[in-house]
Amino acid sequence: MVLLFRPHLAIPQTTVGRLADIDVAGLAASGVTGILVDYDDTLASSKNGELFADSGDFAALCVRTWGDRACVFSDTAGTHRDTDNRLAHSIEQRLGMTTLRHRRDKPAGIEAVYERFGRQPGQLAIVGDRLLTDVVFGNRYGFRTIWLRHAEPVGAFSGLERLLFARKT
Ligand SMILES: [Mg+2]
Repeated sequence: MVLLFRPHLAIPQTTVGRLADIDVAGLAASGVTGILVDYDDTLASSKNGELFADSGDFAALCVRTWGDRACVFSDTAGTHRDTDNRLAHSIEQRLGMTTLRHRRDKPAGIEAVYERFGRQPGQLAIVGDRLLTDVVFGNRYGFRTIWLRHAEPVGAFSGLERLLFARKT
């Protein structure tokens, strides 16, 4: 519903084709002090659960740059859908990034961010594959928003979002 009233919230500041194209050093130099990274179809395929080829390097770069202010923020891992936080633990082992534990899906869920980063979280960035969740969430709270636009649509809503995005720009 957010989109009907405030469509600009779904427009990302930056669009990339893969994680390796994100200018992490540039973000840090321009004042970004932390990053939230979506998991499904951002770090790993939602089809088979496998990490994308550049996910390990990207996560390592984020952790080198921002330390424990680089976190995974997923609507599956670390939520009620993640039994015993199994996926969250697995991400932490494989990628070395903390996975935020939270209850409400993006674009809600800011409480989990405040718990982790404090009420004044500083300039955060968010990267994700979904305009209506990741990007709307980020824009709503003044984060830098980076949309990972895969070469082919992935997931149920990706095609629709592309149509919306094409009309807004
Ligand atoms: Mg996703």
